[in-house]
Amino acid sequence: MTETRRSYCGLCHPRCGLLLEMDGEKVVGVRGDKEHPVTRGMICQRAQLMVDHLYHPERINFPLKRKGERGSGKFQRVGWDEALDDVASRLDALRLRFGAETLAFTHGTKRTYHWDERRFNNLFGTPNICGANNVCMCPSQAVEYATYGGFSWGDILQTRCVVLWGMGASQSKPGMFGQIMMAKKNGARLIVVDPRRIREAEMADMWLPIRPGTDVALMLGWLKILIEEGLYDREFVEKWTVGFEDLKKAVEPYSAERVAEITWLTPAQVRDSAHMYAANRPAMITWGFGIDKQGVNATQAARARSILRAVSGNLDVPGGEPLGFADPIGKILSFNKLEMNEALSAAQRAKQLGADEYPFFGYPGWERNDAANQRLPHDYMHPPWAGQTCVGHARAVFNAMRSGKPYPVKAAISVASNPLLSLADVRKTHEALSSLDLYVVGEYYLTPSAALADYIFPICTTVETTELWHGTDFCVACPRGIDPLYERRNTYDFWRGLAVRLGQKEHWPWESVDRVWDHCLAPVGLTFQKLAEQNGIFGRREYKRYEKLGFGTPSGKVEIRSSIFEALGCEPLPVYREMPMSPQGDPELYKQYPLVLITGSRFMPMYHSEWRQIPAAREKRPDPLVTLHPETAAGLGLKEGDWVRVSTPKGSVRMRLHVSDMVDSRMADADHGWWFPERKDAKLFDVFESNANVLCPDDAEYCSPEIGGWPHTALLCRVEKE
Ligand code: SF4
Repeated sequence: MTETRRSYCGLCHPRCGLLLEMDGEKVVGVRGDKEHPVTRGMICQRAQLMVDHLYHPERINFPLKRKGERGSGKFQRVGWDEALDDVASRLDALRLRFGAETLAFTHGTKRTYHWDERRFNNLFGTPNICGANNVCMCPSQAVEYATYGGFSWGDILQTRCVVLWGMGASQSKPGMFGQIMMAKKNGARLIVVDPRRIREAEMADMWLPIRPGTDVALMLGWLKILIEEGLYDREFVEKWTVGFEDLKKAVEPYSAERVAEITWLTPAQVRDSAHMYAANRPAMITWGFGIDKQGVNATQAARARSILRAVSGNLDVPGGEPLGFADPIGKILSFNKLEMNEALSAAQRAKQLGADEYPFFGYPGWERNDAANQRLPHDYMHPPWAGQTCVGHARAVFNAMRSGKPYPVKAAISVASNPLLSLADVRKTHEALSSLDLYVVGEYYLTPSAALADYIFPICTTVETTELWHGTDFCVACPRGIDPLYERRNTYDFWRGLAVRLGQKEHWPWESVDRVWDHCLAPVGLTFQKLAEQNGIFGRREYKRYEKLGFGTPSGKVEIRSSIFEALGCEPLPVYREMPMSPQGDPELYKQYPLVLITGSRFMPMYHSEWRQIPAAREKRPDPLVTLHPETAAGLGLKEGDWVRVSTPKGSVRMRLHVSDMVDSRMADADHGWWFPERKDAKLFDVFESNANVLCPDDAEYCSPEIGGWPHTALLCRVEKE
C-alpha cells in the first residue's frame, strides 16, 4: 500500500493542504487533504501537476555559474558555499564602491516567503526593492490602509451579495471560487463586473460587461445613487467618516446616463446593479487584479471601492468586509516584524528610486500609513507590510541600471521573479539586466531572465520545505513532505547564507526556517510542531472593534478624503480619468489601433509565466492566444487558429487566434507570460516573440500618478493576419 504524507501546495497564494502519495521517498501522486482545516481537500489543476513540477528534468537542482557570454544560457555547476562566497564578496565590493543602494531586488508573486528577502535587503542597506507590486494587489492594500487603516478580504461565506469585480476567480483564486458557489447556494446575490463573459458571469444574477479601464466611473456612479437615494449607512457615515460632503460633490457628475456613456453599460445596468448591492446587505466587493492593472485609474478605483465598502455600511460586519485579526491569531508575530524595516536608515530610505515620483507607494506613504497604524493594538491590525506596500518603481530602478542616473545600480537579485516576463517594456528591462556587473537569480527553471544571470540558485518546491500560513482568523502549519531534492534550498537558507557572509549573522539567529516559525508562534504558546499536531488554530472574531479603537488612519476615521494622499500631493478624493490610450483618450490613435486590448487574464493550469515547460500544462494551452469576437474576426478575414500579429504603438507580438463571443466585439484579450522553453537554441527562449508585456508601456503618462502602476489593460491594439 502506498504511504501518504501531509504537505502543502504554494504554487500560488493560498497554501492548500496536500496529501503526497509516496513510493519510498518518491512522490508519485498528490490529492487534496480533506482533513486540512481550511482548504478541506480542495486543490486546483495546478496542484495536480505538482509531481511533474517536482521531478521535471529541466528543474535547476544545483547552483550554476555563468560560463558563456551573458544571456548565452551556458552555465557550470558549482557548490553552494563557493557560489555564496563569490556573490557575497562581489556585493561587498560593489557596496563599498557605489553604496548599498547599488543593489536592486526584484520579487515575484507568492511562491516564496518574501519577508526574508526584505530582511536581507534592509540589513544590506538598499531601498531598491521592486517588481510587479505596483500592478498586483499591493496598491489596493496601501490604499485601504490610507482609507480605513487595514485590508479586507471579504466574508464570502456569510454574505448576501458578492461583487466579483475584475477577477476571474475560477482561474485565479479557485478557493474563492468555491466559496462564491457556496454563498450562491446559500442565497447570496452575485454581481460580476468584467468585460469578458467569464464562467462566473454565466452564474451571476447580474453581469456588467464593462469597458476596460472605466471601473472607477461605475463605482462613482454607484456612490452617487447610494447617496442621492439615501441607500447608504447614514449613522456610520456621520460618526465614522471624514470627507463625505466632498464626496457628494465629487460624484455629482456621475449620473447613470453619464456612467453609461463612459462604460459601455446601459443606465439601467448602472442603476439596477447599485440597487442590488445596496439592497442585499451584508455585501462584499472582491479585490481584483483587473482593477490594479488599470494604469492611471488603478489607485483611484481602489479608493472608490474602499469608500463604497465603508459608506454602504459593510465595513467590519459579519458577511461584509471584516477588518483586523481574530483573537488569538493577531498575537502571532507578524511577518512585518520579520522584515526588520527599522534597520534601513532614513538616509538610505531617501534614496529609494521612484519615490520622488510616486511617494505614496514608497517610504513617504508607507511611513504615514505605518504611523497611523501605531495607534491601534497590533494584535488587532498588523502594520502595513512594507514588502507589499513600500517599493521602488521598476522603471526608475531599471533606468538607473541602464544610465547610472541618479546613481549607479550595478547589481540585482531576482527570486522567483522573471522580470523579462513580469514587467512592462521588455526591451528596456532586457537592456538593464544585461548591463549589470552582477545578476543573481533564485529560480526553479532556466527562465529568460535567469539566462542573463551570473549565478542561479536552485529554489525548492513548497512540498520540500515548511511554512506558517495564517489568514485573519486561522493559522496553519504547512509541513514538509520530503527533504529538498538534489541541492535545492528554501529561500530562507539562500538569504541567510548570503547574510552571514555579509556581516548580518546576529540578525539571523535561527538556523532553519522551522525555528523562525517557532519564534512567531511563541506569543501564543505554540511551536510549529505542536501547531501541526493540533491541525491549526482558529480565532474568535470580534466585529466593529473600531467602535472602541477607531480606525488606523491619521484621523481615526474612515478617510473618504484622504489626508495621506493630500499630504503627498495626490488627489484626495476618487476621480475617474480617461485612459490615455483609449478610443476617447486618443481618437486619432484609435483610427490606427481600433480594438481595446486587455492582457493578463489568468488561465489554468499556468500561473503567470510559469509552466510552459510542463507537457501536461502545455497540452491544455499549447500556444499564446488572443481572443476576438466572431464578428471582429470575420471583419478582419481571420478564423480560429490563424497566427496573427497583435500590435500597439509600443510593440507587436505573435499569437494564435481564438474566436469567442465571450469578449466584446470592440476588444481583444491577449494571454500574458509567454516564452518558449522548448526553443533551447533561440536567444532567451524567444522572450520577445509572444510576450504581452512587449505591448505595454510604462511611461509616466500611462501610469497611476499615485503608485506608478502601469497598464496591462485598456490599451489600443490592432490584430492582423501574419
Ligand atoms: S495552485 Fe491551486 S492548490 Fe496550489 S495553492 Fe494555488 S489554489 Fe491552492
